[in-house]
Amino acid sequence: MSRVLNFYPGPAALPIEALEEAQNELLDWQKTGMSVLEISHRSKEFDAVHNETIDLLKKIYGIPDNYSVLLLQGGATLQFAMIPMNLIGNGQTASYVVTGSFSKNAFKAAKTLKSIHLACSTEEDGKHFRIPKPEEINLAPGSVYCHLTSNNTIFGTQWKSFPEYGEVPLACDMSSDILSRRVDFKPFGLIYAGAQKNLGPAGVTVVIIRNDLVDSSQEGLPDILSYKVLVSKNSLFNTPSCFGIYMMNKVLKWVKKKGGLAFIEQQNEEKAKLLYDVIDENPEFYVSKVEKDSRSFMNVTFNLPSEDLLTKFIEDAKTENIIGVKGHRSAGGIRVSIYNSNNLENVRVVSQFMKRFVEKNG
Ligand SMILES: *Cc1c(COP(=O)(O)O)cnc(C)c1O
Repeated sequence: MSRVLNFYPGPAALPIEALEEAQNELLDWQKTGMSVLEISHRSKEFDAVHNETIDLLKKIYGIPDNYSVLLLQGGATLQFAMIPMNLIGNGQTASYVVTGSFSKNAFKAAKTLKSIHLACSTEEDGKHFRIPKPEEINLAPGSVYCHLTSNNTIFGTQWKSFPEYGEVPLACDMSSDILSRRVDFKPFGLIYAGAQKNLGPAGVTVVIIRNDLVDSSQEGLPDILSYKVLVSKNSLFNTPSCFGIYMMNKVLKWVKKKGGLAFIEQQNEEKAKLLYDVIDENPEFYVSKVEKDSRSFMNVTFNLPSEDLLTKFIEDAKTENIIGVKGHRSAGGIRVSIYNSNNLENVRVVSQFMKRFVEKNG
């Protein structure tokens, strides 16, 4: 068996321990004589994993008791629609901050459903290089929430602190940095994330929602789209992503064993520093327009002096077992995604490769 060093942006690397456990349990899970892929989602075995997963996330992430945790399907993208459907009533509005491709998609989806307000956009020639300053964000009066994207996966920017608007809660897409650092939940009314970057495989979407927002959410929606119904059914209104939840359970136990969120946060800072240091030492070679205080600790993006060098970088990386570093087509360049599962050693291999690459080609 040979495993690569996987820096794909999502779906992304999972802890080897979690994969090995799943492998060992695949034919006979918990002495049921079946795998988790084959058992009823109403069985007591699955129910236990489902509830334990929600519990683990609450404990590890420190989610306060006045929030509910949903494990849904449909990806973060379905939440782009469910949030306005559930939270914006007749005659109401919400504000959106656009800092990248996904936040733009969230804005566009909401716009087809409700009358919403663009509070700020950092777009420059179709790209985004920074997180806005608080004074650039203009909320519409009476906004029921302010939507933002904590980590911009494609452009490599990340909010380092969040604005607080008192009565106006934040609704935040944390798909690519959920559980990567400690979070003060106070300004947030709703946090959501597809699992496939930091939490598990694709197919599960986490929604963390403050209970008063569930209570005041809109009536008259189809049950499958209603937070009220989904919370009242503990996310088991219909068949959930059973295998996805089971894998997420293993990933969360791995986080706990490693030392929890404090360890993860510290390791993520060290990992990001390893790569940004090489970029800063070679600013003519590893070119980045991302503002320094906006740099993402999850997706490190940069460009090279020519297309030929870019191609060579990706090819040479591959010969060293480093894969998944080609940037998104809309951003170009290189993107190294260093989610929780990629440890310090893996990232050190990339930083050393980058140093050698500039020595040879710079
Ligand atoms: C990956 C990603 C998405 C897309 O999520 P799906 O689960 O594919 O719908 C949305 N937002 C952000 C910030 C992402 O990184």
